[in-house]
Amino acid sequence: MSTTTHHIPQGHVDFVGAGPGDPELLTLKAMRAFEMADVVMHDRLISEEILALAGKTARLVDVGKAGFGPSWKQSDIDALLAETALTGARVVRLKSGDPTVFGRLDEEIEAVEAAGVTWRIVPGLTAASAAVAGIGQSLTRRGRNSSVRFLTGHDMKGFADHDWAALARTGEVAAIYMGKKSARFVQGRLIMHGADRATPVTLVENASRPDQRVLATTLDKLPTDLAAAEMDGPALTLYGLAPRDAAQALTQLNKEFA
Ligand code: SAH
Repeated sequence: MSTTTHHIPQGHVDFVGAGPGDPELLTLKAMRAFEMADVVMHDRLISEEILALAGKTARLVDVGKAGFGPSWKQSDIDALLAETALTGARVVRLKSGDPTVFGRLDEEIEAVEAAGVTWRIVPGLTAASAAVAGIGQSLTRRGRNSSVRFLTGHDMKGFADHDWAALARTGEVAAIYMGKKSARFVQGRLIMHGADRATPVTLVENASRPDQRVLATTLDKLPTDLAAAEMDGPALTLYGLAPRDAAQALTQLNKEFA
């Protein structure tokens, strides 16, 4: 008696970082994952150029959460990911920036794993890296800050609390994600914990994209300047950093008036 082996289609999920928007900041690994994918499930923040590359051979599925409009529940995304992979499809789960930074990655990995589907993470360039490059600064600098924090402005419970006293010390740097709505809250907490009102704060909207905009302000003026700037794209708040040009000009001015 002969035995027949049935080929069971094996699905797979790649959690891929799309970077901050400039397609040239995609990794070669991300590009390869696109080429092998049957389905690409993506978020709202992914740029058109990147979607065009991802969707060349694969089917695109938008699971983005659109502000206050109709949105996907995280549990629905988890279920759809597992279901799609179980049909034997190779799925790319495309997330903006690096999937491991404020990307709700663990929930999705758990869902995929529970379904017995294989997966891997393809890292991407996080928004903080692109934003700081856009203002010609470093996230860390000898003699200024030997650590940098990645913070979120709000979490599931509302505005997110942090170690404000530590952050309020001179020279500290933080990259604040999703920080527009919480700008006034962050400002209040930091000042309450002794931060200098003149601490530089820079917002980089649409970092790495052709429509990148930089708003250089101070902790003192953050909420008012931000409101006046009417930023509607994704923006990263760099606390403790000014654009290099402005910082240099200021040192020059101080020297002249000293
Ligand atoms: N995983 C992403 C972050 C997702 S949270 C990453 O690693 O970059 C979404 C937040 O990221 C936005 O609210 C914004 O603060 C930031 N962000 C994402 N793309 C951005 C971009 N191109 N420019 C500025 N900020 C960006």
